[in-house]
Amino acid sequence: MKAIAVEPGAGDPVVVEKPVPEPAAGHALVRTLRVGVDGTDHEVIRGAHGELPDGSDRLVLGHEAVGVVEDPNGTDLEAGDIVAPTVRRPPNGTNEYFERGEPDMAPEGAYLERGIVGAHGFMAEYFTSPAETLVPVPAELAELGFLVEPISITEKALEHAQAARSTVHWEPESAIVLGNGSLGLVTLAMFEEVLELERTYCLGKRDRPDPSIDLIDDLGATYIDSRETPVSEIPEAYESMDLVYEATGYAKHPFETVEALAPNGVGALVGVPDDWSFEIDGGRLHRELVLHNKALVGTVNSHRGHFEAAVDTLSSIPEWVTDDLVTGVYGLEEFERAFERNDSVIKTAVEFDTR
Ligand code: NDP
Ligand code: ZN
Repeated sequence: MKAIAVEPGAGDPVVVEKPVPEPAAGHALVRTLRVGVDGTDHEVIRGAHGELPDGSDRLVLGHEAVGVVEDPNGTDLEAGDIVAPTVRRPPNGTNEYFERGEPDMAPEGAYLERGIVGAHGFMAEYFTSPAETLVPVPAELAELGFLVEPISITEKALEHAQAARSTVHWEPESAIVLGNGSLGLVTLAMFEEVLELERTYCLGKRDRPDPSIDLIDDLGATYIDSRETPVSEIPEAYESMDLVYEATGYAKHPFETVEALAPNGVGALVGVPDDWSFEIDGGRLHRELVLHNKALVGTVNSHRGHFEAAVDTLSSIPEWVTDDLVTGVYGLEEFERAFERNDSVIKTAVEFDTR
């Protein structure tokens, strides 16, 4: 079978030939339909994030997959079921995080991530995976099932943000997404179409005309350009925010978020920055957090429950939104196009099988 693999930091992804994997006991064989590409894949390709599997000099990419069960191999799944795989696996045997069903809370060293950290990904014609990691997706969502993983990231982030307010009355009305990349935009769609927040905003640093800003407009949100209005000045220029979702990976944003939040507000941080030293007024931020009951939560990855919630969410995002969000789906013969980045690209996927 064909797979898309990369030597991290040493060039572009290439098509390689690999044997069709044999499912172990408790694992199913899945025929891949589509695999999404995101910022993390680009970090893996340039060697900035992730690890090769032991004994391999290339990593099969892909952590945002949807496929169809080819061989249930004695598990509860049925041939023909559409499934989206979770990403984390235990490094050897299992550990307490996986046993509790909370692999997303495992610290470094206690997990592998398929397509990212020490385990081959799903960008191949077939993959195998333990049955409990394969989350059912309704057949009518098969083509968009590669969005379940990114949506699950936000399901977790919002769950943790809400948990930080779960002891009090908290009904966010104003919310901003920092970042107009694919994760930011899918999150904005969730704010507007699923959570039905009253007033939503999205931060970018681009000029109009731009397809991501068009989508922000069409969703009924307000576009804020960080070159004109830095995050810390948003309360003055617009309003303070009950909820901030940071998806830029721009390291000043978490600190500016503290200033952008309304009293009792929560900032959920998902961006992954490189090292960067800069000056901040720590006293002021500390005081803001304490005297206005503000919270910041960092969150990474997601577990099966978040995938299940993401399937529901995906089914309530209108088709016009996913049509605008997914700017390209490419077959193996032109898979390189799925890795092109420019301002006209929002979300892409590689297609292995059209069913
Ligand atoms: P992208 O790189 O596609 O999106 C980031 C967006 O933020 C870009 O559109 C960029 O604008 C914008 N941006 C960056 N800096 C600024 C700034 N100073 N002001 C305004 N806008 C800015 O990444 P993704 O959408 O795929 O992911 C978002 C972040 O989340 C990344 O850091 C990624 O690593 C991380 N991530 C974290 C996960 C987790 O589990 N915690 C899971 C998946 C992703 P432009 O395009 O114009 O440069
Ligand atoms: Zn991803």
